[in-house]
This record gives sequence, structure tokens and C-alpha cells, in this order.
Amino acid sequence: MDSQKIDLLSLYESELEEFIISLGEPKYRAKQLFTQMHRGIAPADMTNIGKATKQKIDERAYYSLPSIRRKLVSAIDGTVKYLFELCDGNCVESVVMKYKHGNTICVSSQVGCRMGCAFCASTIGGKLRDLRASEILGQVMMAQNDTGERISNIVMMGIGEPLDNYDNVIRFLRLVGCENGMNIGYRHISLSTCGLVDKIEKLAKEDMPITLSISLHASDDETRSEIMPVNRKWNVSSLLEACRKYYATTGRRISFEYTLIASKNDSVASAERLAKVLNSALRPKKSDSFPIHVNLIPVNPVEETGFAASGKQSVAKFAKTLEDNGIRATVRRTLGADINASCGQLRREEEKRS
Ligand code: SAH
Repeated sequence: MDSQKIDLLSLYESELEEFIISLGEPKYRAKQLFTQMHRGIAPADMTNIGKATKQKIDERAYYSLPSIRRKLVSAIDGTVKYLFELCDGNCVESVVMKYKHGNTICVSSQVGCRMGCAFCASTIGGKLRDLRASEILGQVMMAQNDTGERISNIVMMGIGEPLDNYDNVIRFLRLVGCENGMNIGYRHISLSTCGLVDKIEKLAKEDMPITLSISLHASDDETRSEIMPVNRKWNVSSLLEACRKYYATTGRRISFEYTLIASKNDSVASAERLAKVLNSALRPKKSDSFPIHVNLIPVNPVEETGFAASGKQSVAKFAKTLEDNGIRATVRRTLGADINASCGQLRREEEKRS
């Protein structure tokens, strides 16, 4: 893709207006373009725009959507996993999960990841590049067009660390909520982070009522630093302090992800410590109402990492210990078990093949 050209699908409607005016075209064209582009129609295929205008647009700008390189559909629960190819040949994954309350898509934010979490498939080859806003949005549009069903919720839990691609992710979050676009509001969006404290503080000031998910995975610095290198820069207490401030500023609840790894972080003692650490950092006073919710996920074994998932009994005991200590805990239901639906694994397979 010619990098000198403007990426039309990444523009806000107001920026598209400026662009259209700069071409000497009437302002109303921007809305026509925006609405149709966000439905998946390329400017070249629009029937209400003339040839001369199309040519002018094409000289200065481009429109591109990811293409479906592979698609797997779970026979068990209808979960759909896409391997999308971007315009430079790189691939990312998205997963569409079907719930009673609507369809949720899990999107990627980077090609690869540089956070280095020891259990994660997405980070094995490092980060190749950030996705542009249009490339994150394109995953939602393509999945909705391909499944033919409305996507009502988004989780940013695919490949990449969304807060490590801050500006593009914020732009995506604003674009996907546009009334003339996908119209998926902040309250239907969750963003998951491994804990970039400076960016969590910045996000708190954006006035975006999304749900924040924190990948905690351990409550003591020694274990967390071992499995999540980011903890060496921002430790557990600084992360939880950022969470406390985030809640105080936004009033939005935060959920914590905790991946259970056999004999690493899944003992009853680990659960007790987790409850104690969360309670004392987030609810220092008895009257504090910080809603704490922990999502327990038995680790998905990735060939290269050598970690094993906790057994059913340890998971249940862990959850009960948290509940006994005033922390709501749920065990994440596994969807798409037959299609290897957890993130990073399909892209990894494809890389090994070629
Ligand atoms: N970078 C972001 C979002 C991507 S990962 C983050 O760290 O939150 C989405 C979630 O899946 C994170 O909680 C991550 O820690 C978890 N995860 C990654 N690999 C996993 C695996 N093999 N098994 C279970 N959960 C995993």
C-alpha cells in the first residue's frame, strides 16, 4: 500500500469532510462516503459518486479491508475464527462468539506482540507492527458481513497489547461507535491490557465508558514478573493503584483476568493472597464499594510454552476461596474448543507452514 496515500477508513467523519473539501467536492459527499465505506463498500463501487470524483479520491487516498485467509467454524457452539490477511500480507486473528445476549467479536490490535508473556502464543515471534484503526475496524466489518449477523459487542483480547498501540486503538474505539458506522457503543466494548500503567492513567481521562480488563495472572511480584515481563516495569501495587484511580475517575467496573497454570499460580494459598491483595489495594476501607470480579481461565496449553492447565478441582477450589473472601469469581466457559479458538495460535500455525 502506498504509504503516502490517506487511509480513508481510519478517518473521522470531520476529517473526511476536510479531505472531500480539499478535492473541491461538496461537503455532503463525506457523509455518503463514510456511511457506505463503513458498510464495506469501496469508493470505486459506489453508485452515487461520479467517475471524476472517484478518480480524484483514488489519486490521494485508499480504501482497504482485510481479506479472509482462513475461516474455521466450531461444530460444538458455532464460534467462528478468522485468519485475516492485511494489505501487506501480514495476518491477524478474530473470533466471533455467539451468546444469548448477542454476538461478540474478539479483535486483534497488533501483528504479534512485544509484551513477552510466558504462556501466550501471540508474543512468540515478537511484534511486527501496529494495526491502523481501519485494520481493527475492518475485522469487525468483515466478520459482520461474512456471518450476516449483527455484532453487538467487542472485546479487545486478540493478538497484541491494545494500550501499546494507544492512538490507533482510541481512534478505532471512536470510529466503531459512530452512528453512521458500526454504531457499537463504549458500554459494549471491553479492552484487555497486561498492565501498562501510564496508558491506563491516560485512558481514564478519555471519557470513554468502556470496560477495562486487567490481565493479572499472579498477585505477587515474583511470580508475576516471571510470567509477565511487564511487571518488572509496573509492579502489582502500581497496577492496582492505577485501577483504583481508573474506577474513581470513570466509575466503570474493572474485571481481572487470571489464567490458572498448574503448580504455578493455582494453589489455595495463591487464591487467598490474590483476594487479600485485591481487597487491600482496591477496598482499603470497609465501606469501599469497588466491584471486583475475577475471571478464571485455565491456561490454554501452547506447545512452545510448556505450561499445563489446572485441573477442574483446583479451579473450583480457587474460585470458592475468592468468593469466600468477598471477590466475585467466574470460570470462563471455553468456546470453540474444536477449532483452537484461543488467540495467536492460528497465525502461529500459518507462520510455521510457510
Ligand atoms: N495484551 C492484552 C490482550 C490480549 S490477550 C492482555 O494482555 O490483556 C487476552 C487474554 O488472554 C489475556 O488475559 C492473556 O493474558 C490471556 N492469554 C494469553 N495466552 C493465554 C493462554 N495460552 N491461555 C489462557 N489465556 C491466555
